Amino acid sequence: MNSFSPTEDTIAAIATAVSPGQGSIAVIRISGSSAIEITKSIVHIPGLHDWDTHKVLYGHVTEADQAIYIDEVLILIMKGPRSFTGEDVVEIHCHGGIIAVQKILERILDIPSVRRAEPGEFSQRAVLNGRLSLTQAESISELISARSRKAGELAINGIEGNIQTTIQSIRKRLIDQLTEIEARIDFEEDLPILNEKNVKNEIVAIKKDLNVLIDNAKRGSWIRSGLKVALTGKPNVGKSSLLNRLCKQEKAIVTDLPGTTRDLLESEIVLEGIPVTFVDTAGLRETKNIIEKIGISRTKETLIQADLIILIFDYSKGWTREDESIIKQLPINIPFLIVGNKSDLKKSQSCENIPKYILEKENLVILSAKTGNGEDELIDYLLKICGSSQTHGLQLALNERQLDLAKSTRESLENINKVFNEKLPWDFWTIDLRQAINYLGELTGEDLTESLLDNIFTKFCIGK
Ligand code: GDP
Repeated sequence: MNSFSPTEDTIAAIATAVSPGQGSIAVIRISGSSAIEITKSIVHIPGLHDWDTHKVLYGHVTEADQAIYIDEVLILIMKGPRSFTGEDVVEIHCHGGIIAVQKILERILDIPSVRRAEPGEFSQRAVLNGRLSLTQAESISELISARSRKAGELAINGIEGNIQTTIQSIRKRLIDQLTEIEARIDFEEDLPILNEKNVKNEIVAIKKDLNVLIDNAKRGSWIRSGLKVALTGKPNVGKSSLLNRLCKQEKAIVTDLPGTTRDLLESEIVLEGIPVTFVDTAGLRETKNIIEKIGISRTKETLIQADLIILIFDYSKGWTREDESIIKQLPINIPFLIVGNKSDLKKSQSCENIPKYILEKENLVILSAKTGNGEDELIDYLLKICGSSQTHGLQLALNERQLDLAKSTRESLENINKVFNEKLPWDFWTIDLRQAINYLGELTGEDLTESLLDNIFTKFCIGK
């Protein structure tokens, strides 16, 4: 029997990745008022010891009858509030893989006063107990998911609090304006006349700052999740060959039969620290073949989701009506690059029959997937899109949730503009101003309901 009486909900979960043969150690995290008592009840620690905070103890986790050891462990004790969650936290460091760590977690969860942590629940408690701001917690999650150094750097900036302080300062400027106006509504006769022009100018300046954040978010999302580049074009123009060359691996099937790349193949390279995923599509053409039809509809879906489309044509044969029909089917909002492949088969490097509107744009690259001639030019183009000029010096990038709220804030501020123009009374100004302040409060977590918080943290993984 366990000899403690819990006072509140204590949670436990494995905090490290669980995989057989991987990781020489694993960590189980327990948080809540019973964390220390629970740990005491499942471990055997030889000799004299105390359970002081920020100390490490050595011992064994035992089976319920205390006679059999499950694993040899180190126990890290962090009493609240000096812990990640602000509550009493114990970390049990055991051997890695899956067996020991899962057995220890099961042993803990057999104790009635503790339950398995929900995804993100440790971070949620950290936020609720004021140990972390919401944007810091999100940045920790982003750091764990980071696939490139740049994504890591951005996440660390967020953990340091740059998103929080930037948004808080914008929010404070809005609150200052709201206070000015509300004071006039309540005590007009006691105060100097409101300088409406100053208010307008400040709102315009704030909108400008928000616009920078909104524009940067796109670059941030490239850094975080990488750039998705879809390769499309007629069958047999060399899409798979180009993909193979770019990724220097034989992942795509290269064949002489038209239309054989029916499945979407993905390969990733890292350019300037940004992961670039190439998706080789089935191409776009009229067909009666059912399997190919499925491939073509998947191609269309991929094209819509791409950050850049590379349309490949056979340069040795020249631009054809089919190529023209494909270009017309491309989604209009997504930038595209045209690649003339198989330049090795063409004697003269002339561009006859390539329409003028394509030649005039700076988005035509002629190359040979076979010899590699012209490949550097393509890489340069990609670097221009995702490379240093775009992402250099980016210190702060809102995630998707934060971006949506920044956009809503901007909309509210745009509404104020309308109210200004229609010369409506001040009460009308305050409605949108207050709304904008609320959106930013939701962004930083200062103005957030419990259910919204739950919603955000369920997207985190278990043990975080
Ligand atoms: P896809 O259907 O567009 O994916 O085309 P593939 O990559 O399967 O290539 C079709 C054929 O063209 C294959 O026989 C390739 O070896 C050939 N091919 C691809 N790129 C080049 C190139 O740059 N030069 C030459 N000479 N042949 C190429």
